[in-house]
Amino acid sequence: TATTRTTGAARPAAAATAERVRADYAALKARGLALDLTRGKPSPAQLDLSTGLLDIGAAELGPAGAGADHRNYGGLTGLPELRAIFAEVLRVPVEQLLAVGNSSLALMHDTLVHAVLFGVPGSARPWGAERTAVLCPVPGYDRHFALCEKFGLEMIPVPMRDDGPDMDEVERLAAADPGIRAIWCVPTYSNPTGAVYGPETARRLAALPAAAPDFRILWDDAYAVHHLTDEHGEHGEHEQHERDEQHEQHERDEHGDHTPPGAPGTTPPGGAAPAPGILALCAEHGHPDRAFVYGSTSKITFAGAGVAFLGSSPANVEWLTGHLSRRTIGPDKLNQLRHARFLRDAAGLRAHMARHRALLRPRFDLVERVLRERLGGLDGATWSRPRGGYFVSLDVPDGCARRTVELAAEAGIRLTPAGATFPYGRDPRDRNIRIAPTYPALDELETAMEGLAVCVLLAALERS
Ligand code: PMP
Repeated sequence: TATTRTTGAARPAAAATAERVRADYAALKARGLALDLTRGKPSPAQLDLSTGLLDIGAAELGPAGAGADHRNYGGLTGLPELRAIFAEVLRVPVEQLLAVGNSSLALMHDTLVHAVLFGVPGSARPWGAERTAVLCPVPGYDRHFALCEKFGLEMIPVPMRDDGPDMDEVERLAAADPGIRAIWCVPTYSNPTGAVYGPETARRLAALPAAAPDFRILWDDAYAVHHLTDEHGEHGEHEQHERDEQHEQHERDEHGDHTPPGAPGTTPPGGAAPAPGILALCAEHGHPDRAFVYGSTSKITFAGAGVAFLGSSPANVEWLTGHLSRRTIGPDKLNQLRHARFLRDAAGLRAHMARHRALLRPRFDLVERVLRERLGGLDGATWSRPRGGYFVSLDVPDGCARRTVELAAEAGIRLTPAGATFPYGRDPRDRNIRIAPTYPALDELETAMEGLAVCVLLAALERS
C-alpha cells in the first residue's frame, strides 16, 4: 500500500487514567509553550541547502547562452534548460511544460480563473456560466478548497484511499453529473495523507467516462521528488540510480568530497516520481486535453523564491499562454537560470533532494514514535506513515479533532484548524488533524508532539 496506517489498540492504554491525563494537561499548560505545527514549511537548515543559488553571480547570469540576454523581457514559456530538468521529473514533454512565476498555487488559481471566465478548450460555455462542481479527495489540501470556494465552484468530497481517491465513487459521480468538471489530485505523497496514486488509479482517471466534455484533472505534483525512503519509483529505478551515482561521483570529484557512495545522508534516492505520466495516459485513453500538471521548487530550493511549472497538452498550453500573455510580458528568467545552474539536471535535483531527506526523515520518525508510544493504545486513533511529502495525517477518535486543536492552542501549540482538510472546513466525523513536522527544530517538535498527544487523550476522555 502507498501509506501504512498505524492503528491503536496494540497496547493497553497504559497509565492513561483520567487523573493522569488531566494532570499532564495542566502541566503542559503551565509550561507556557509557543510552538507551531501548522504549515508545511522547509526548516532553516533545509533552506541552507540552497545557499549556492545565491552564489551564482554576474558572470553566470549576464548575457550568456545562445544569444539570449536573460536580463531582458521575453521568453514567456520559461527557460528551456530548467524546463528540461522538470520535464523529466513531472513527466511532461519539455515543449509542453511552462516555467512561470514563483508559485504553482498561483498557476492553479490562474487556470481556474480563466476556466471560470472563458472556459477551457472543449467547453461549451465558461465554467462560471453554469453550475460547476469539483471532486475533492478528502482529506485534502485546504488551499485547493479555498480556490474553489472563492470562485464559486461546488466541492464534492470523495474518500481518499492509500492509492488515491475511491475510483468507483469518482467514476459513478463523474459519469452521472455533467456539472462535475474537475478533480483535484496530489498524486505523489498527497497532502495530508501521503497517499501515492497507483498506476491503476491514474489509468482510471485518464479513462474516466466523465459526462462533462471539458472535464479536467488538476494534477498537483507538489511532492514529486520529496521522498523519505528508498521505496519509490515504478519505472527504471535501477537505471536511474546508476545515473545518480555517476552524478554524485562527478560532484565529489569537483568538490573534493570523498564520502563513499551510499554513505548515510548521501545516498541518492534514485527512481523517477512514482506517479505515472498522466498526460500520456490521458492521450492514450482519448482525452488528450484532460490533465493540467503543476509543480514547483518551493520545497526544493527557497519557498516563495523558487520557480513554478505547468504542463499540459499543446491545446491547453496554448490556451493558458494566450491568457498569460495578457498578465505578464515574461517570467523572472534570472531566477530560472540560477535554478538550472544550481540543480544542473534531474540527477542533480535528486541528489539535492537526498540532502533534504536526511534532514526530514528524523522528524517523521519522531512523529511516528511519539504517536505510537502515546496514542498506540487509544481506540480510534490512526495516523499515516508517509514515505514522502510534508505531512502526517492524524485521525483522532470521532468528534475529538476540534476539541484537540482547541486544547492544544490553549497550551501554546498551534495546529492547522480542525476541518481544514475538508471542503468548507467540514470534517463530517470531526477527527482529522494535519501535522506539519518539517519546520520546528527536533526538540521543539518532540515537545509539540508529546503535548499534542496529551491533548488528544484529554479530548477523548472528555467525550467518553
Ligand atoms: N500544492 C500542494 C499540495 C502543497 O502542499 C503546496 C504547499 N503547501 C502547494 C501546492 C503550494 O505550492 P507553491 O509554493 O508552488 O505555490
